Amino acid sequence: MKQLETTGLLDERQKFICLSGDKAGLKCESDSVAGAISQRACVYCGARVVLNPITDAYHIIHGPIGCASYTWDLRGSLTSGVETYRNAFSTDLQEKDVIFGGGKKLTGAIDEIVLKFHPKLIFVYATCIVGVIGDDVESICKAAEKKYGIIVIPVKSPGFSGNKSTGYRLACDALLELMSCARPAEKSIGINILGDFNLSGEMWIISEYLKKIGVNIVSRITGDSTCDEIMKAPTAALNIVQCAGSMGYLANRMEEIYGIPFIKVSFFGIEDTTNSLLRIAYALHDGKAVEKAKNFTDKKSKETASLLEPYKRLLHDRKAAIYVGGGYKAISLIRQFRELGIRSVMVGTQTGKKDEYEVIRELADPGTVVLDDANPAELEKFMRQTGADILVGGVKERPLAYKLAVAFCDHNHERKQPLAGYDGAVNFAKEINMTINSPVWKLLKEEAAV
Ligand code: SF4
Repeated sequence: MKQLETTGLLDERQKFICLSGDKAGLKCESDSVAGAISQRACVYCGARVVLNPITDAYHIIHGPIGCASYTWDLRGSLTSGVETYRNAFSTDLQEKDVIFGGGKKLTGAIDEIVLKFHPKLIFVYATCIVGVIGDDVESICKAAEKKYGIIVIPVKSPGFSGNKSTGYRLACDALLELMSCARPAEKSIGINILGDFNLSGEMWIISEYLKKIGVNIVSRITGDSTCDEIMKAPTAALNIVQCAGSMGYLANRMEEIYGIPFIKVSFFGIEDTTNSLLRIAYALHDGKAVEKAKNFTDKKSKETASLLEPYKRLLHDRKAAIYVGGGYKAISLIRQFRELGIRSVMVGTQTGKKDEYEVIRELADPGTVVLDDANPAELEKFMRQTGADILVGGVKERPLAYKLAVAFCDHNHERKQPLAGYDGAVNFAKEINMTINSPVWKLLKEEAAV
C-alpha cells in the first residue's frame, strides 16, 4: 500500500495527516499545534461568522481596532431587509485602556449605539486583550439591558481561548440566549434551517425548493434572518443542519431544551441536494411533501445532469484538492467532483469531526491525502505531490493556489456565485471549468520553468 510521504512535516503534525486507506485514521478536534501557522481562524472569528448574518443585529467588538477590521463585513451574506449587520463597531482599545481597564469605553459604546440607532439586539465580543485584562463584560451587558430594555448578549471569545470550534459553540450559546428571550409560543409544523449563511443568496435558492415541496420555514439561522425570526425558532417541528461544523452543537442543545429533532443535510451537488430534500419530507412524516419532493427532485436532477454533460467532457480526469471549513462540506465536494468526473486527491478541513473524517477516508479514492487543521506549507507540499489541478478553499487559500499556478475556486465566505442546490451545481461546474481550463496556468508553469 502507498505510504504517506512526511519529509518536512513537523513531528507533532504527522498524526493529523493520513492517506485515505490508512487503518489508523487521523487526529482531529483538537487545538492547533503551537507554531504550526494554522489556516484556522481564532475563537472570536468563529463566533462572529455565525452571528454576523443576522441582518438587524449590532456587533460591538470590544478590543483593538484590528480585531474589528479583520472580520468587518466578512461574509458575502445577502439580505432581503436591512443592512445593519454589515457594520462593525469597535471600542478601539489602546495602551491606556489595557492598563486601566476598558469597561468605561464599552459602556460608552453601548450608550452611543442605543442613542443613535435604537437597536433591538447587540452582541458584545470580548477579544484576546479583554481576556487578558479581565473587563467584566457580562455585568456591563446586563446593566445595559436593564437600563435600555433591549437584548445585549456578551460573547466571551478571546482568540486564544480555544480554536475556531470554540467560537462556533459560543455563538450557538448566544443564539440560545436570544431564543430564551422569546415568550413561549405554540408549536408550528415548519422547520428551522441551521448553518446556511445566505452566501450569494443560497438561502433563497434552498427556500424556494422547500416552498416547491410544501415545507414551511420558521427560522433561518442565521442567513438573512432577524432577531425576531431567530426568537421564533423554538416553535419549529424539525431542525435541518446544513453546516454541521458550526451548528451541530446548537441542533443538539435545541433537541435537549425544546425537543426539536434534527437531521444533517447538504445542498451541494445533485446527489446531496436530492437526498436532503427527500429526507426532510420523510422526517416531517408529511405524505404530500414526500410525493412533491420525489417529483421535484426527479425532474430537477435529470435537468441538471444534462446541463452538466458538456462540462464533464471538459473536466474528465482532472484532480482536485479540497480545503474547507467543515467535514460535511468536504464530503459533499468529493461527491460533487465525482459527478463531474474529477478525482479528489487531497481533502482537508479546519474543524472536521472524527465521524466526518471516517466518511471522507472511505469515500475518497485510495491514496488521497486527508488532513486536519493544515498550514500553508502542508497544503503546498501535498498539492505538489498529488499534482492537483485545482484547489477549492477560502480567501486564505487563494494566494497559495495562485503562487503554485494552480486553479482556484472560492467555496467560502466570499464566493460571488451561489453554489448550493441544482442551480448552484451548474454554477459550480461552470466556475471549475472556467478556472481549470484557463490558459494562464500553463503560461505561468512555462514561465516558472524558464
Ligand atoms: S481576538 Fe485575538 S486572535 Fe482574534 S483577531 Fe483579535 S487579537 Fe487576533
